[in-house]
Amino acid sequence: MEKVYFTDVRAEVTEPEKWFQPELSAVNKLKRLLDSSGILDSILPGDLVAVKTHFGDLGTTRTLRSVFIRTVVEKIKEVGGKPFVTETTGLGLTRPRCTAIGRLLIAETNGYTQQTLAAPIVIADGLLGFDFVKTDVDGKHLKSVYVAKAIAEADVVVCCTHFKLHMVAGIGGSIKNVGVGCVAKPSKFDIHAQGYPKINDKCIKCDECVKLCPVKAIEDYRIVEERCLKCLGCEEVCRYGAIDVSWLPGKIISERIAECAKGVLSVNKNFVYINFLLDISPHCDCHPYSDVPVVRDVGILTSKDLVAIDLASVELYEKESKIGFIPDEKYWPWTDPHRMIEYAEELGIGKRSYRIIEIE
Ligand code: SF4
Ligand code: SF4
Repeated sequence: MEKVYFTDVRAEVTEPEKWFQPELSAVNKLKRLLDSSGILDSILPGDLVAVKTHFGDLGTTRTLRSVFIRTVVEKIKEVGGKPFVTETTGLGLTRPRCTAIGRLLIAETNGYTQQTLAAPIVIADGLLGFDFVKTDVDGKHLKSVYVAKAIAEADVVVCCTHFKLHMVAGIGGSIKNVGVGCVAKPSKFDIHAQGYPKINDKCIKCDECVKLCPVKAIEDYRIVEERCLKCLGCEEVCRYGAIDVSWLPGKIISERIAECAKGVLSVNKNFVYINFLLDISPHCDCHPYSDVPVVRDVGILTSKDLVAIDLASVELYEKESKIGFIPDEKYWPWTDPHRMIEYAEELGIGKRSYRIIEIE
């Protein structure tokens, strides 16, 4: 049975006459959670420690607050680690979220800087999202996973995940933060789509995609698959709908996320997980807006097992929602987080049996 440590963030005021009670702060509860759980004990002096999080997009307002990440960073420094905060680029090449420079601008806009985080920010898959370590996985969907290089090279990865609902996977928890957030562009494509992009007969030969492609994979208005890195820059830049992509349905994407998580963990086994069940919004942090939370804030969890922590998070969320998992009925009624969690266990990367240890 895997241990999942939990602190309830609601401030239960025990001395109503006393207004100054800093021990009730969620930040101080996080500190006690990190100390009591011993989750950072595997960090050795001098270790390079990646703190993996999500900075949101331009317009996202309910991401994980920088003060929580800073608290984790300071605890890592206390045990002698050398922390850096990290994130990967998204699919495409032209929008801000698709390059390291754009990601850093988004981070700054949303309040994440070296000054607020007390650690440098490193974009884990490099300037354009092609810095990776390729590894084999024997999944039913995927044979290779492209792990972001800084994640592969870190001595320890502390996954700081804003837990929220997600339009495909049902939830954005630790499995998704590893499976999607720790991989480079080719794997991000493989999670969402089949095969390679293809140029169709709507092409007017404007050459915009030819000029943009960073690996010169477009010849005679045909994509040369042996060279293509599946970044989708061509699809993004084409104004004529001339690039076809075989997008996949939700449940298959969930399974592919779990297979990518397996690939990441085969390259770097030293992961620990913190799920923040705060501002549980109905959409992923990659959306350029944030809707209001679907339930009250719940708390913060930590574990060495990403399957156990995600199942515990879903079950705490379901308890809070009173009626179980509520998908976004208007837009994404098909979502179901349990398949991703179940499949991650089938892949052997974690266990669904857990015991909650509550930290005051
Ligand atoms: S950008 Fe579109 S229309 Fe222009 S060459 Fe490429 S595929 Fe053809
Ligand atoms: S052809 Fe491949 S590598 Fe080139 S821009 Fe398109 S997806 Fe990217």
